[in-house]
Amino acid sequence: MATKTHHCAKCQQRATVYDVGGSKCDSCFQQAIIHNFKTTISRKGLAQFGDNVGVAASGGYSSQALIDLLGRSLSEREDGKTSRMKMQVTIFHIDCESPFLSSNAGIEVIQPLAAKYSFRVCTAKASHSCQQLWKQVGECLAWKDVKDIGDLEELSRIVVYRMVAFLAKSQGCKIVFDGLNASSICRNILTSISSGNGFAIPFEVSPADMSRRFFDISIHHPQHDITDRQLIRYVWMRQIGFIAPNLTLLGPTSSVDSLTVSFLKDLEEQHRSTIPNILKTSSRIVVPLQFSHCSLCRVPVGSNGKFVSTCTKVSEKNDNEEQVHALLCKACQHRQGRMSMETFQSFLTSLMVFDKALQSQDNE
Ligand SMILES: [Zn+2]
Ligand SMILES: [Zn+2]
Repeated sequence: MATKTHHCAKCQQRATVYDVGGSKCDSCFQQAIIHNFKTTISRKGLAQFGDNVGVAASGGYSSQALIDLLGRSLSEREDGKTSRMKMQVTIFHIDCESPFLSSNAGIEVIQPLAAKYSFRVCTAKASHSCQQLWKQVGECLAWKDVKDIGDLEELSRIVVYRMVAFLAKSQGCKIVFDGLNASSICRNILTSISSGNGFAIPFEVSPADMSRRFFDISIHHPQHDITDRQLIRYVWMRQIGFIAPNLTLLGPTSSVDSLTVSFLKDLEEQHRSTIPNILKTSSRIVVPLQFSHCSLCRVPVGSNGKFVSTCTKVSEKNDNEEQVHALLCKACQHRQGRMSMETFQSFLTSLMVFDKALQSQDNE
């Protein structure tokens, strides 16, 4: 971050200003980020007054910023009056033992931050039914059989998001905010294009989740207009338990995702408008009215989807297997080719069992 002593572009005071998010002093920068965050929530209708809102938090810098921004939006106003925003907030953290979830240091950062704003924390470990589902998915899959690091990252994201939706549902929370930001949304758009999932772009680019991929649970992105660099500066300024993002560890086994991240980072350093341009262009694509979902990753699919049949046990009691049709997006069709038949099938069927539970939870 380039710093220089200058005049703040907003309040005109002489201060150390940064080249991230305009030449603003610390205080004006933070106010601008909070304003951006609140505007996205209200203008895009991500949540209404009095809503029960969940926050998906891994403990990384983006989710740290999310909790802090939400807490401040609900408690303070520039003019010192009480905030007009009112929500019940529950933080969802997935802390299951697994070979792919990075260290559980996340919860140590989340707990004090949640306590500061009196947010409730709900972890997967504390939920019995969540643990059960986790076991079904986690144990059936031989993770060592997944050779491609990009697949490993993506498969873990797929499971984690489903678990967040499941936890939210169990707590009667239909709206969840996640830490996706302008940079990570851009990365998702670019990887969607490169994997043949262009159909999903209008869903990826919207701050509001319109995909219905987790049935009646919507996962919105209130940090849609804030970049990685801005969030990192924000978290660093707020002196939250900063955990540096792992952008530099690009080895020979880099995934498409991490390569896209470094590509975007380089591009943005030279052309500051890259990320806003990608978002602006992508948002012009019309949201399709008719679509289904990929049975594996739940991304919206159109005519690019492919039906495959898979075997699944009808019930726990009898061993009869039933042929079920699953729909795969382009990216998962490629993924199927990179994994062993057995691994792929067992993963797919256990996720489909998960979705059944997610869909039918309220009938219990
Ligand atoms: Zn200022
Ligand atoms: Zn898929």
